[in-house]
Amino acid sequence: MSFPISTTSAANSTLKLSKKARRETPENLLRHHLDMCSKQGDVSEALRLYDSARAGSIPLSLHHYNVLLYLCSHLSATASEADRAFEIFPQMSVDGVVPNEATFTTLVRLAAARGDPDLAFQFIKTMSAAGITPRLRSYGPALFGFCEKGDVEKAQELEAHMVEAKVAAEELELAALFRLNSELGRGEDVYRLLHRMRAELRMVSETTAELIEGWFNSVQAAGFGLHEWDVEMVNKGVLTGGGGWHGQGWLGKGQWSVGRSEMDKEGVCRRCRDRMMSIDIDPVETEVFARSLAELASQKEAKADFTGFQSWLDRYGPFDAVIDGANVGLNNQHKFSFFQLNYIVNELRQMSSSDKLPLVVLHCSRVRGGQADNSNNKRLLESWRRSGSLYVTPSGSNDDWYWLYAAVNCKCLVVTNDEMRDHLFALLGNSFFPRWKEKHQVRLTVSRDGPTFHLPPPYSIVIQESERGSWHIPTIAGDDIETPRQWVCANRDMIVPSLSHPRLVQI
Ligand SMILES: [Zn+2]
Repeated sequence: MSFPISTTSAANSTLKLSKKARRETPENLLRHHLDMCSKQGDVSEALRLYDSARAGSIPLSLHHYNVLLYLCSHLSATASEADRAFEIFPQMSVDGVVPNEATFTTLVRLAAARGDPDLAFQFIKTMSAAGITPRLRSYGPALFGFCEKGDVEKAQELEAHMVEAKVAAEELELAALFRLNSELGRGEDVYRLLHRMRAELRMVSETTAELIEGWFNSVQAAGFGLHEWDVEMVNKGVLTGGGGWHGQGWLGKGQWSVGRSEMDKEGVCRRCRDRMMSIDIDPVETEVFARSLAELASQKEAKADFTGFQSWLDRYGPFDAVIDGANVGLNNQHKFSFFQLNYIVNELRQMSSSDKLPLVVLHCSRVRGGQADNSNNKRLLESWRRSGSLYVTPSGSNDDWYWLYAAVNCKCLVVTNDEMRDHLFALLGNSFFPRWKEKHQVRLTVSRDGPTFHLPPPYSIVIQESERGSWHIPTIAGDDIETPRQWVCANRDMIVPSLSHPRLVQI
C-alpha cells in the first residue's frame, strides 16, 4: 500500500529545502554577489567581497576568479584596483584552481593597459605552455603595446608566436605591424607585411590604405629596391605564386609615384595603365569547398532535406546559373515580383550557351499565397517546376545554403545582391570563400530602363605586385555597386602629371 500524494509532496519539500540550501552555500552567495558587481561594474565591492571571502576561507572557483579579474580590468577600476589582479591571480594556483583562456586574456589586457606588454606576452607564453591556445583577442593587446612602444624585436617575436599558434591576424594587427616597421624604415619587413596583407586580407580599409601610401611616399621607401633584377627569377616567382605577385623583393630604385586610381572594366589601371591579373581558383580547392559546404549545410539544415536536394541537383543539374530567387524578386521592389524574377530568368537563359533555364531557388513561403496565387504566377511556377529549374526549399530551411551549394557544385554563376557577410557565410571562412564569391557572384541593379547585370570582374580584386615591381592595393568598397572601388597605385616608372604640366610617362 502506498500514499503516492503525500509521499510525493514530502519528497518535493525535501528537494526544495535542499535546493534552497544548495543555493545559499557561501560559495553560491558569493557567486551571486560577484555576478551582481559584474553587471553593475562595481569593482570596489567585488574586491571587498574577495577579501572577506578569503578571511572567511570560502573556497573560490574559476568563475569567481574570472569575474574578479574581469572587474579589475573594468574601465571604472582605479590603477590600484587593477593592480590587485596580479595579487589575486597567484592565489588561483595556491587554491588549485586551473585558469582558462578567459583568465589569461583578462591578465594580458590588464598588463597591456598598465603599459607592460612584456608582462602581457609572458601571460600569453604561460597560457600556451599550459596547453591553452591563445586567441586573437589574447594577442592583440600585447602586440599593440609593443607597437606603441616601438619595440620592433618584441613585436616580431609575438608575430612569430601567433603564426606558430596558427592564430590568423586581422587587419588591425597587420596594420599595427606595418605602421611600426614603416616608421622605422624597415623596408624588408614592410615588404613582407604587404605580402601578408595580400594573402590574408586581399584588400584594405581606408586607414590602412593611407598607411601604405605613407610608406611609399617616405624617403626610406625610395632607398629600397634593385636597379637590375633577375627577370627569370621574377617570372618563376609569378608562376609558382599563382599570378599577381612574385615575392622577389622591391624592384626598381628611387622615389615612388603614389596616387589613387580606379580600374577600367578590363582591369587596367586608369593611372598607370598596368593590367591587373585574374588569379584562377584551383579546381581541387573548389571540390574541397563544395564538400565542406554540404557537410555544414547538412548540420544546419534538416539532414534529409539537404541530402534530398543534392540528389535533386544530381538529377536536374548541372546549371549554367543559379538565382537567389527571394533576393532577385525583391530587388528594388516593395513586394516580391515574379515578373522581375521571370525577366532575369529569361535574360540568363539567353546568355547561356546551352539555352538551359537557370536554377531558381525559392523558399516554400514564396510559392504559396500572396503573389504566388495569381494565375499567371501559378503557371510560371508550374512551368519552371516541370522543366526542373525550380527548387523549393522546405519550411524552416535557410534557402541561402541551397543556392550557394548549387552554384559551387555546378561551378557556375549565382545571381544575388546578398553581400554574403552574415553568420552563415562567416562559417565558410576567409580563405577560399571570398575568392570564390569574387569569381561567381553576379549582382543586379534595377532602374527604370530595366535590370543591369554586374558580372564578376575579369581580374582579381586583391593586392597585386607586377613583374616590374609596381603595386596596386584595392580598398574595401561600400555596398553601392555603381561606386567604383579606389585602388592605391604605386610605381616607379611614372612621373606624376601635375595640373600645369602635360602628362609625362617614362617607359
Ligand atoms: Zn596604377
